[in-house]
Amino acid sequence: MPSSNRPDRGARNKLREFFLSNVGKILDSGTLRDIAGTSEWGRRVRELRNEEGLNIVTHNDRSDLKPGQYMLVDLTTIPSFERGISKETRAIVLDRDGFTCQVCGVGAGEIHPYDGRKTRLHIGHIVDKSMGGSDDSGNLRAVCSVCNEGASNLTLNRPDTIKLKAQVRRAPNRDQIEILKWLIDKFPFETNDIVKSMKGESS
Ligand SMILES: [Zn+2]
Repeated sequence: MPSSNRPDRGARNKLREFFLSNVGKILDSGTLRDIAGTSEWGRRVRELRNEEGLNIVTHNDRSDLKPGQYMLVDLTTIPSFERGISKETRAIVLDRDGFTCQVCGVGAGEIHPYDGRKTRLHIGHIVDKSMGGSDDSGNLRAVCSVCNEGASNLTLNRPDTIKLKAQVRRAPNRDQIEILKWLIDKFPFETNDIVKSMKGESS
């Protein structure tokens, strides 16, 4: 088969159509290769994901998929502003933010109280790119789909410290201990320092 751009563009169209008519189904690499009719099918799938923002996942994204399996999860697309951000930066931001939406506090994979769906985190800009904000990790934060789409104001506002403490105080001791454990796990070094300084003060 002569190699030119034409048949490959066709392959991408065929793959897009196939994914769109099989939303939520596990598709294996053999099927995708047959549909695309080219050995370049993998590159075309990456383009659908990275350039067009289709929500296609692999075993790297989900533990229930095996290598060579692909799935178009739903028809939401990853916003174009996110595409320029490198994998490394994404990973740094998500890790720093504890895989938690920085607007409403819901964790990745948790059922979102607003729409009852599993939470998917995006990387959002703190200062919007249109306002001159950079793609630097300092200007990025983890945001869930709900908050990303601007629905966050309808759910939870980020509480201030006083309100947050009041909420925790009202919770049963058992829940307070859970929060303590979670915080110790999240901030091991800070915990050490705080405990040390508390001991220092009391002795
Ligand atoms: Zn959120």
